[in-house]
Amino acid sequence: MSGLDDLYRELILDHSRDPQGKGDPQAEAHSHHELNPSCGDEITMGATVDEDGAIASLHWEGQGCSISMASASVMSDLLAGASRDEALARIDEFREMLRSRGSVEPSERLEDAAAFQGVAKYVMRIKCAMLGWVALEACLMESAAT
Ligand code: ZN
Repeated sequence: MSGLDDLYRELILDHSRDPQGKGDPQAEAHSHHELNPSCGDEITMGATVDEDGAIASLHWEGQGCSISMASASVMSDLLAGASRDEALARIDEFREMLRSRGSVEPSERLEDAAAFQGVAKYVMRIKCAMLGWVALEACLMESAAT
């Protein structure tokens, strides 16, 4: 398993160094700001859902620890272009993986986001990993309501 752990650590580092999906969240139809006071992480996520209910565009900005930034980046890669329902299902799976403290094996559908399974062991870091996902969830809920 240590080989996989190294791979996951590398993936998180790569994404924190070169985050994907960065851009102006206010340019999207829906945006939502999330703060994690215990760590000081801040993310504003923006998403535009098209007429077919797919995430046509997704951009975010933020600052914080490498886990919060890498997780928002991995999520952007995973969910840009997904339908609203798919995205909400993936967010639920990601949350379940983290809240289970690592006892729930990550769904294959989470792809690179499975790298954050190890984070579940550290209660203080779960909120870091969830931050961008919670912000996108709020955008999608809002888009569904309009
Ligand atoms: Zn953090």
